[in-house]
Amino acid sequence: MASPSLVWFRDDLRLADNPALRAAADRGEPVIGVYVLDEASPGIRPLGGAARWWLHHSLAELGERLSDKGSVLVLRRGAAADVIPALVAETEAGAVFWNRRYGAPERTVDAGIKESLRAPGSVEAASFAGSLLFEPWTVRTGAGDPYSVFTPFWNACRQLPTPRHPLPEPRELPGPRNHPASDDLVSWQLLPRHPDWSGGLGERWTPGEGAARARLRAFLAEDVADYDRSRDEPAGGATSQLSPRLRWGELSPFEVWHAAVSSGARVGGFLSELGWREFAWHTLFHSPDLATKNLRHAFDAFPWPALRPSMLRAWQRGETGIPLVDAGMHELWTTGFMHNRVRMVTASFLVKNLLIDWRRGEEWFWDTLVDADEANNPFNWQWVAGSGADAAPYFRIFNPELQAKKFDPDGRYVREWAPDALGDRAREPIVDLAESRKAALAAYEAVKRAG
Ligand SMILES: Cc1cc2nc3c(=O)[nH]c(=O)nc-3n(C[C@H](O)[C@H](O)[C@H](O)COP(=O)(O)OP(=O)(O)OC[C@H]3O[C@@H](n4cnc5c(N)ncnc54)[C@H](O)[C@@H]3O)c2cc1C
Repeated sequence: MASPSLVWFRDDLRLADNPALRAAADRGEPVIGVYVLDEASPGIRPLGGAARWWLHHSLAELGERLSDKGSVLVLRRGAAADVIPALVAETEAGAVFWNRRYGAPERTVDAGIKESLRAPGSVEAASFAGSLLFEPWTVRTGAGDPYSVFTPFWNACRQLPTPRHPLPEPRELPGPRNHPASDDLVSWQLLPRHPDWSGGLGERWTPGEGAARARLRAFLAEDVADYDRSRDEPAGGATSQLSPRLRWGELSPFEVWHAAVSSGARVGGFLSELGWREFAWHTLFHSPDLATKNLRHAFDAFPWPALRPSMLRAWQRGETGIPLVDAGMHELWTTGFMHNRVRMVTASFLVKNLLIDWRRGEEWFWDTLVDADEANNPFNWQWVAGSGADAAPYFRIFNPELQAKKFDPDGRYVREWAPDALGDRAREPIVDLAESRKAALAAYEAVKRAG
């Protein structure tokens, strides 16, 4: 009798270069894909609104791809520790495969499930490396500690064997004779309604592996040669825009790495950005409280003033009167994305000109970014705030007007996203840049004393 293989999809919504799926295909039994919407396991961070939108569409596409191959995607909701063993029993599965996750609550869940499945001795449970180029426990300093500075971290990674070549998509995936019951994706209500604010996301993005691969090809054919020169210009569009693809695992970093290397272009700068992604995830692995606790403990002494909600709201809505900041916040709200340079400027403005705790900004980005993930978002916020690993020094405060002059000199980006910000109808800035900078530096003295 057939004993199907379950493939538990998580942040790896793809068929190509998916080691868990490959293991299932190689096992030669029917393959059942499953995705669990887990809002019940302790400590797992609930997805933000933009992420839920992306997940809905990406799951719909994954389901179609699996059924084109002959298999099926089963959707279930609940604590994974209940759902996965129950599905194993229901389908009489002989094996469960998944690709690893690196947050602490997720690792606890996964380890518990692996143990419970293996205990009776009848079910094979195996996990694979599919989402990071280097496993976090393999990159250590000579003294055996995790790296806290990017350059030596990346140099150490580059000394390790080159990331493996991507695995091809399985040619076919035989499905089970009886399809297990599946939730209706729509019933999960991942899409916003009342109001539906997702129009701009739909205009900008087509979630799913097919569009992801097309984007990778287009980037390598058209933009990568110009990447090092123009990656900081928000209106130029020469960056890859692959971050949501990597976030949801529609593309694996191995595929992106090898496609870039074999493109023949100079790709060192681009690869080192993939290195920052690795660094953020390795940091999360070693510091699981990344979204809530300052990596630099001296920063706990920072005297954040009482939150002024009107200031936070003005920032969230792009109504600060600082054109580049307002343009960035409008791009974010409209499309679920913001260019990296502008992310740095808007984040710096929140923390260092409005003196609002970086965690409030991180929460807003978490809710509004389609690429929000539990490592890169808090890691980068801590980097900008100056509280993080290898962070920008606190006193290096971005001046949003100078940044605009340098990186958006003809105002193309600002005109696109905040057209009113440059003309007669421009708002008054909600803070004086020079005064607020001085206040931030004075507050930082407390950190210096504590450090
Ligand atoms: C305050 C703040 C919050 C951020 N939050 C996130 C987040 O939640 N998710 C996220 O993926 N990125 C985040 N970033 C990093 C970065 O802004 C985005 O990864 C990048 O803008 C995505 O655009 P791209 O794909 O065109 O990048 P490219 O320049 O084409 O880079 C290629 C890939 O490298 C990775 N990468 C690039 N820059 C960084 C970086 N600074 N840190 C980590 N990885 C990087 C991304 O996976 C990206 O897709 C944040 C940055 C800041 C300043």
